[in-house]
Amino acid sequence: MEPTNVEILPNDLAINWSDGHETYIDFVTLRNACPCAACRGEGHLWGKTAPTIDASKLGADAFELMSVSGVGSYAISFVWGDKHDSGIFSYTLLKSLCQCDSCVAERAE
Ligand SMILES: [Zn+2]
Ligand SMILES: [Zn+2]
Repeated sequence: MEPTNVEILPNDLAINWSDGHETYIDFVTLRNACPCAACRGEGHLWGKTAPTIDASKLGADAFELMSVSGVGSYAISFVWGDKHDSGIFSYTLLKSLCQCDSCVAERAE
């Protein structure tokens, strides 16, 4: 499964998948899920298991999505308002962030 269309909305990233599914991910959720070493490393230092960003240490611009680009045929990378761009979001990761009812219900099972 791969994205057929990726669009930056005012508060969300919208992804249309090749199977017809539509995913919307708000920018805060997306930035908090950044899988890059810097973001994951800090999360580790704070004793958290999941990759987490201390949102209070980031300016509002860190949660502004500036641009989107494809990485090979498996991932997407983002440029954020604070110039952060090292996160490579695999399609699997992006799908796991989908906030639609059916995906949320699926993950709760
Ligand atoms: Zn990052
Ligand atoms: Zn979904």
